[in-house]
Amino acid sequence: MAKLYFFYGAMNSGKTTRILQCEYNYNEQGMRAVIMKPMIDTKGNEKIVSRIGSSKKVDYLIKNDENIFDLIVSEYNHVDLILVDEAQFLTRKQVNQLMDIVIDLDIPVMCYGLRTDFKGNGFPGSTRLLEIAHELTEIKTICECGKKAMFNVRLIDGKVITEGESVAIDGVGKISYTVACSKCFRLKTRQKFDHEDKVTKKI
Ligand SMILES: [Zn+2]
Repeated sequence: MAKLYFFYGAMNSGKTTRILQCEYNYNEQGMRAVIMKPMIDTKGNEKIVSRIGSSKKVDYLIKNDENIFDLIVSEYNHVDLILVDEAQFLTRKQVNQLMDIVIDLDIPVMCYGLRTDFKGNGFPGSTRLLEIAHELTEIKTICECGKKAMFNVRLIDGKVITEGESVAIDGVGKISYTVACSKCFRLKTRQKFDHEDKVTKKI
């Protein structure tokens, strides 16, 4: 039976590189894999871009209100694997639709995404995936202190930010991100909580 997989991690953990490798392996075996991602991510537009330089145009951009089950039935019914990048941006309903694809169409679905936003809170898509995916795999990356990085820290002009919308895409404007272990995340963000008013004014 097909399964719903969720590969999760902090930013820069190599998720996109794994997607590209996985698609390559399927194609080499004569099977068809499709790569999708939610439209909300503007990084690279229709491309998925890995940190080590390789990139590829995605096969489909998922709209926010799109029924992915209906889409697969009508357009991609003969695929062997569905790969979803930036799966944290899916809605809970869309993750349920992915589960229906796995159960009713017997197509495996591999989702890749962030576990939490820059405040340490779960995204709707990743939270639902953590709840219902058959297989959960953490993709590990390293904090500057050497421990496992679990969190994403948002920076504006190099300064740590603890307020704002959960979705702000890396590389747009002056926003950037770094990763941190739990201890460094607390140290970095609490430091700024103490100066919250000043930081808010600067934005
Ligand atoms: Zn650390």
